[in-house]
Amino acid sequence: MGSLQRIYNFSAGPAILPVEVVKTVQEELPSYRRSGMSIMEISHRSSLFTDLQEAAEADLRKLMQIPDNYDVLFLQGGGTLQFAMTAMNLAVKTKKVGFVDSGHWAQRAMEETALVKGTKAVVVASSKDQKYTQLPTIKPISGQFDYLHLTVNNTIEGTMYHQIPAGLKKFPLVGDMSSIILGYNYQVTDFDLIYAGAQKNIGPAGLTIVILKHELLQDAPDLPAMLSYPKQVQKHSALNTPPVFAIYVAGLVFKWLLAQGGVAAMQEKNEQKAQLLYAEIENSKLFRSPVAVKDRSLTNIPFVTGSAELDQQFVAESQAAGLLNLKGHRSVGGMRASLYNAMPLTGVERLVEFMQEFERQHGGQN
Ligand SMILES: *Cc1c(COP(=O)(O)O)cnc(C)c1O
Repeated sequence: MGSLQRIYNFSAGPAILPVEVVKTVQEELPSYRRSGMSIMEISHRSSLFTDLQEAAEADLRKLMQIPDNYDVLFLQGGGTLQFAMTAMNLAVKTKKVGFVDSGHWAQRAMEETALVKGTKAVVVASSKDQKYTQLPTIKPISGQFDYLHLTVNNTIEGTMYHQIPAGLKKFPLVGDMSSIILGYNYQVTDFDLIYAGAQKNIGPAGLTIVILKHELLQDAPDLPAMLSYPKQVQKHSALNTPPVFAIYVAGLVFKWLLAQGGVAAMQEKNEQKAQLLYAEIENSKLFRSPVAVKDRSLTNIPFVTGSAELDQQFVAESQAAGLLNLKGHRSVGGMRASLYNAMPLTGVERLVEFMQEFERQHGGQN
């Protein structure tokens, strides 16, 4: 594991995991709890699994202070399936869903929702005209909607809601927290449903967390089992074979987070890491952030030099220096550093040192 410590993975997802968790997986892999089998081989109907799933749910409830009137689901299909599954289950009265258009993932959510038969996806606020470099302003919302959809952290554009706008609380609120869940101390009770793919700030791909208010289930139509929240709730997310390995690793990450002091402590560390990088960007004559200061994300931080060639060189040289996956999303270019919970402060310090070196070589005086 020694060599691992020299590499820092800044990928937006699949993303860095706490090294302690990876070590535990390695140690426990040949014989999970002295069963003589690895976690990948045990039955999902055995108490070995049901115990670990119960513990994972209990720890997640503790971490996010999830009230008893919310159910927790461990599903598959990623955030992308939730774009449609939310609509199938919740868009049942007006069949209209209001979207805050804050970037790429909000748009994908709208597209998938609009493909659910009979459902209309309506933009209630947008920052498209600002090229999504800031969050949309929420004006009083008119019309009737079954729910509103908010992308809480915009992974590609690098914006996040530090507070949930009061204007969104008029209707049930669905929050896509894929890239910020457990990284910032949001109140679950501000939302009626929260979903997040695990592969960004939790664990391996193949697991999607859904947290939903129990009363939402009342009006859900009869759907094929895998697409039905009530049926998934009734079978405790195990109506077919669940992603056992991914749930196991997520459970280890939850325990790691509790040992770190929980979400409030992570938020503090994430603020410290993000401030270090934003300060470097602000002080630099070479790098700049395209994002409005007030809306900047803690977990996904894009920056550019202004020259596509220099950006490319930065990505190549940083990789050679052990700073991996700093290339920005193909739709926006430049660089992006994802500073999830598992990224240590030393990783950001190394990145900042590297940026200063790069600026001395390529950007003139600093
Ligand atoms: C990555 C991402 C998605 C898509 O997630 P998948 O799990 O790959 O389907 C959706 N929303 C946001 C905000 C994301 O960052």
